[in-house]
Amino acid sequence: MALEKYNQKRRFNSTPEPAGKLARREGHRFVVQKHHASHLHYDFRLEMEGVLKSWAVPKGPSLDPADKRLAMQVEDHPVSYFDFEGVIPPGNYGAGTVMVWDVGTWEPLGDAHAMITKGDLKFRLHGQKLNGEFVLAHMRSRRPGSKGTEWLLIKKKDEGMQPGFDIDSLDYSVLTNRSLAEIGGDEKSAEWESNRKAAVKKGAEWLFEKGAALISSKKTAATNPISRKAAKAGATKVRVMPAKSAKRSRSTSARQTAKRRVS
Ligand code: MN
Repeated sequence: MALEKYNQKRRFNSTPEPAGKLARREGHRFVVQKHHASHLHYDFRLEMEGVLKSWAVPKGPSLDPADKRLAMQVEDHPVSYFDFEGVIPPGNYGAGTVMVWDVGTWEPLGDAHAMITKGDLKFRLHGQKLNGEFVLAHMRSRRPGSKGTEWLLIKKKDEGMQPGFDIDSLDYSVLTNRSLAEIGGDEKSAEWESNRKAAVKKGAEWLFEKGAALISSKKTAATNPISRKAAKAGATKVRVMPAKSAKRSRSTSARQTAKRRVS
């Protein structure tokens, strides 16, 4: 069973994460989640065969073809994990903050099942932050104690590449526009409390629009560029789980104002 490991590791009465069920529909979405657990890393997930094939990438994906990012394959996740953003409480597996860092669709460049079995998965991403061709190459490690879970995630040279790519400059959720600190409800968001009342209305409107776009992408796709992206991503719903307040999302301008105040 593809999701057994996922379910074994979690207690669903104590984590807000979804329980693992196999999806019936075959989709080709991808999501990258920025996850500050015991160590900061990025979870790279490809929807395939009714699950999210998942790799933990310590330094995160890069658009610079010179970067070869270590990607440790981890247990398959349920497709419903796609839009999980929020806080996994202390004491749970993977406890910490999760951000939906990028979403979109992926195109296998060949037979996906054959390529993943062979350990040479070539694909193209159509995301909000990540675009163009990539390869996930399985490393045949002879190192004693190696679990055989090590892959390399590498950007191919094409119009999507960005030499010198700096992942830290993109610390915002594509679902809610929040930084990781804001999602976690720590230090930085305390700085905002003074701005909160003014910003919350705009932020809530923004989130509502985004959520509405994701829920009924077809209805608004013709006019709204955000919803066109959401429609492309094939997302059907939004799950947002802020740490302390349901109204923690902010408008872009409020967030930038807050950042200027901090720095
Ligand atoms: Mn993780």
